[in-house]
Amino acid sequence: MSAESGLSTFRDKHTGGIWAKHDPMRLASPEGFSEDPKLVLDWYSSRRRNLAAAKPNPAHTSLAAHKSMTHITQNVDDLLERAGARNTIHLHGTLIADRCHARCGYRENIDLAKPPKPRPCPNCNAPLRPDVVWFGESLPSDAWARAEQSCLTTELLLVIGTSACVYPAAGLIEVARSAGAQIICINTEKIDGLAKNDIGLIGTAGDLVPKLLSSTDCSDVQ
Ligand code: ZN
Repeated sequence: MSAESGLSTFRDKHTGGIWAKHDPMRLASPEGFSEDPKLVLDWYSSRRRNLAAAKPNPAHTSLAAHKSMTHITQNVDDLLERAGARNTIHLHGTLIADRCHARCGYRENIDLAKPPKPRPCPNCNAPLRPDVVWFGESLPSDAWARAEQSCLTTELLLVIGTSACVYPAAGLIEVARSAGAQIICINTEKIDGLAKNDIGLIGTAGDLVPKLLSSTDCSDVQ
């Protein structure tokens, strides 16, 4: 969804794709951070500046307008929040904060437009790092528990911008489906993993989400 706001991860047009030559495993893993922290933090600084300049698109704003919705996202940007979303669960963490790499509990919000230089944790002197989930790291358990609870109790689950078969997040779809929710998937490419009663819509989120939400009374979906 945020790719339509000009954000992508490894082949960002704003940086001329300069990061595309790097192995994602080196840019977003604890091992890569230990090996070359400057490279990793430079990449995140570049992404943070891009995010500072990005704006929510019509998909973000139409989702955020439904104040009773819970938004479960694998994106690490804050575009849903900037669009006005109240209840957002970040399964993969967020670019708007740094945290202690040693997990002593220290966390601080940062200025996206002026990403901080490498610095140690004021509590324990371990390096600070973006508060995101890297390859090989587990998802934050509190966020996962809240997401699972939402999926257990919802009547409608919109799945946007994924083929719906990438775990562990795809497991949330099964939770909602088993609990009787209607599943609607929106993706620009073929959607794998749809069950018999699921609905799949092919197109961009910026086009389809506003149309769907303006024509559907979400409180009335059985
Ligand atoms: Zn610390």
